[in-house]
Amino acid sequence: MKTLRKDFPIFKQKINGHPLIYFDNAATSQKPQTVIDALSRFYLEQNNNIHRSVYAFGEQATTLYEDARASVADFINAQTDEVVFTKGTTEGINFIASTWATQHLKKGDEILLTEMEHHSNLVPWQQLAHTHGVQLKFIPVLPDGTLDLKKLPQLITKKTKLVAVVHVSNALGTRNDIETIIQAAQAAGARVLIDAAQSAPHQKIDVKKIKCDFLVFSGHKMLGPTGIGVLFIKKELHDQVNPYQFGGGMIYEADFHHATFLDAPHKFEAGTPPIAQAIGLGAAIDYFNKHISFDELQKHEAALCAQLINGLVPYKKITILGPIEQLKKSGHLMSFAIDGIHAHDVAAHLSNYGICVRAGHHCAQPLAKKLDVTASVRVSFYLYNSEQEVEKLLEAITLLHIK
Ligand code: PMP
Repeated sequence: MKTLRKDFPIFKQKINGHPLIYFDNAATSQKPQTVIDALSRFYLEQNNNIHRSVYAFGEQATTLYEDARASVADFINAQTDEVVFTKGTTEGINFIASTWATQHLKKGDEILLTEMEHHSNLVPWQQLAHTHGVQLKFIPVLPDGTLDLKKLPQLITKKTKLVAVVHVSNALGTRNDIETIIQAAQAAGARVLIDAAQSAPHQKIDVKKIKCDFLVFSGHKMLGPTGIGVLFIKKELHDQVNPYQFGGGMIYEADFHHATFLDAPHKFEAGTPPIAQAIGLGAAIDYFNKHISFDELQKHEAALCAQLINGLVPYKKITILGPIEQLKKSGHLMSFAIDGIHAHDVAAHLSNYGICVRAGHHCAQPLAKKLDVTASVRVSFYLYNSEQEVEKLLEAITLLHIK
């Protein structure tokens, strides 16, 4: 892992005279040179719109874009036409909320979420509840930051039409037992959407094994550019999902009053898609395939979590949120709060040493309210982080002179 840091040009710079220590990977990851090169090569040499140019030069962009889709499909063990490009996790969830869900859910139906959802996997469903009379239910979070799955039999009923859950919490780092949740959901005939924004960059995702109906993630958290995300829609459901938007690129035939649509995935991608970004995501996946074993990555990140947790545990005024033992074994992020010092002040202090961490409610305000921790400091790791960097963070914490 150590040698990979040199592949990321951003680390050449200094912040306040210190080497950049980037611990905000759950927000977005840094990009390797190969991804940056793929983006600039596209604009320097290959720029064209896709699926419409008859000239050979234009076909190249289409091939690159569709190759990127094939790489993503391979990466998550999906079929190529099950991969829909979006602009990110948020758009993927809004897509399903405004298409499949509005088509298939009616007043009184229930959607089961968890209390640890990111606003992206909460607010689109709240809107549906307001407009369509759908009821939202929540799997509770226990004080240790895990889900109370014992409540599942009560929570999943015949009225449950969708279970939408986060795979790994961006606020607590908890890895949820989605296999158990999916089994219970499918036994009751409910569809399942997995928010894999925090898992796809860190562990192998196999949609055939997981057996979910929909799965979403963002390219920018996994070495790729911003503006590109993935929505997996299981093939059997393609006919049950209406297009999200309408326009060019998705039409089979149109007259003045009617139009018919292409098959998936094209019927789900109206307009000019984020072509360069999709190609950039393809380059990110090539980087994974060439340099990264997910087993090694998980061990590396968990070791950093364990080092940080062990360094913070002796402080009585520090509360570590989330399931400590699980994080030490398989986590890639951890959050903590310091009694008497606001999380923003901690982040500003660390910034003096070139250390970037996130502070706040991490777009999961209802969870923060439930845990009664309005703001916490989140440290999230990736392949280029090291023990020495965690050591520097712990040294900077000592300078806060917490009693
Ligand atoms: N879900 C989770 C668990 C996340 O961590 C994030 C990003 N913080 C999102 C959804 C939203 O992702 P994006 O902003 O890339 O759409």
